[in-house]
Amino acid sequence: MYDVIIIGAGAAGLSAAIYAARRKLKALVIGMDKGGQTILASRMENYPGFMGDNGSSLMRIFEKQVHDLNVEIVLGRVSNVEKVENDFKVKLSNNEIYESKSVILAYGKVPAQLNIPGEEKFFGRGIHIYAVYDAPLFKDKTVAVIGGGNSALDSVLILSNYAKKIYLIHRRNEFRGEQVNVEKVRALKNVEIILENVPVEFKGDDKLNSLVIKNINDNELKELNLDGCFVEIGYMNKVDFVKDLVDVNEKNEIVVDMYCNTKTKGLFAAGDLTIIPYKQTITSAGEGCKAALTCDNYIHGKTGLVIDWT
Ligand SMILES: Cc1cc2nc3c(=O)[nH]c(=O)nc-3n(C[C@H](O)[C@H](O)[C@H](O)COP(=O)(O)OP(=O)(O)OC[C@H]3O[C@@H](n4cnc5c(N)ncnc54)[C@H](O)[C@@H]3O)c2cc1C
Repeated sequence: MYDVIIIGAGAAGLSAAIYAARRKLKALVIGMDKGGQTILASRMENYPGFMGDNGSSLMRIFEKQVHDLNVEIVLGRVSNVEKVENDFKVKLSNNEIYESKSVILAYGKVPAQLNIPGEEKFFGRGIHIYAVYDAPLFKDKTVAVIGGGNSALDSVLILSNYAKKIYLIHRRNEFRGEQVNVEKVRALKNVEIILENVPVEFKGDDKLNSLVIKNINDNELKELNLDGCFVEIGYMNKVDFVKDLVDVNEKNEIVVDMYCNTKTKGLFAAGDLTIIPYKQTITSAGEGCKAALTCDNYIHGKTGLVIDWT
């Protein structure tokens, strides 16, 4: 039984972990990656105290601080959060369950899913979301990238430094991404572009082995043998696995007060997934700090001002 489970390992979640650990809360972080969306920033020029490098380097520092405070980060996708009497049960897509007295939601804007068979099963076992983070896993392997925007094109460019063969699969007959990126991708020798096709099923045993795609014009099915697949089809605000526990606004952002409380006691939220404006790394880090200090008040039955240097 943890004092707090923090869902999300981006700026908000890792900051919450640092503050929770310094308050001696028994904390666990669950994230689909370590670093969140900030790792996608090629230059990080607006995080005070950090100069002139990319977002990935900044998030490695966050991660090291969390590690040095002995907070465990579990890699996985949370599929459900349930309140049972005063405690919480957090379920992962691989059916593991963790229990805690409180939960901090810090899972940001969520990469959109395809919602096709095999997607949950092979997530993290061949299916990935950030090429900038996971591309080195696919050195000399065959991978697919799904999508037609700049994120998908960027992923192909990164993967082309590692993978032997890359399929770029897009449902339309042209890309939405910038022309300059399209041209760079088209010039790559190890990329096969498959347009007007949609993914229909991921297959494998314990790991992903193949992807079945369907031509949208004649419905012809084709199975591609793969070692990995990057799903790059955009981001959304996702609340389905906590929907009974939180209120949301018209953009599906979680309603919080200025202390990061949601409508459910013991459930806090911080960062890009909330109604708080100005979605930035620095604001998410600050909100993560606030959520952890409010959480500490909740766990120890305290109220009022909490400061971290006492
Ligand atoms: C390309 C790009 C460039 C950017 N550049 C800048 C910049 O220069 N400066 C700046 O300040 N901001 C920048 N941003 C915005 C900044 O990255 C975000 O505001 C910030 O990452 C939000 O932090 P967060 O912790 O709230 O969410 P995120 O960083 O999105 O972290 C969310 C975490 O939750 C995890 N997660 C999601 N769903 C689940 C689930 N179901 N189960 C378990 N874990 C889950 C994710 O894996 C991740 O670890 C940029 C964003 C992008 C996309």
